Amino acid sequence: MKVKGKGAFLLNKSVPFFTFFTEFHGEVYVICPRCQQDDVIKAMIKATRSIIFICPECEATWFSIDEVKFPGFLDYMTYMSSIGLSHLWDELEIISEKI
Ligand SMILES: [Zn+2]
Repeated sequence: MKVKGKGAFLLNKSVPFFTFFTEFHGEVYVICPRCQQDDVIKAMIKATRSIIFICPECEATWFSIDEVKFPGFLDYMTYMSSIGLSHLWDELEIISEKI
């Protein structure tokens, strides 16, 4: 396996970390795979009652725990705009700081 720099590492789908947290979801804190600055949290968009997984730091957003990887995220602001909602965090109800 050739790994050239950080970018190549992040794009590698066989990173063991991902395997770990998908097997134990519901139990663990997951560091955001995009910015690696904060834990991804579970929240509900009040207007649509849909569950999302979002990084409080960079606002990377996912719709399933199994999809929490980089690349593969949506930008919270972009998504909320696309469904006609504001991108304020007031739109969200935080469900858990673990996912
Ligand atoms: Zn992040």
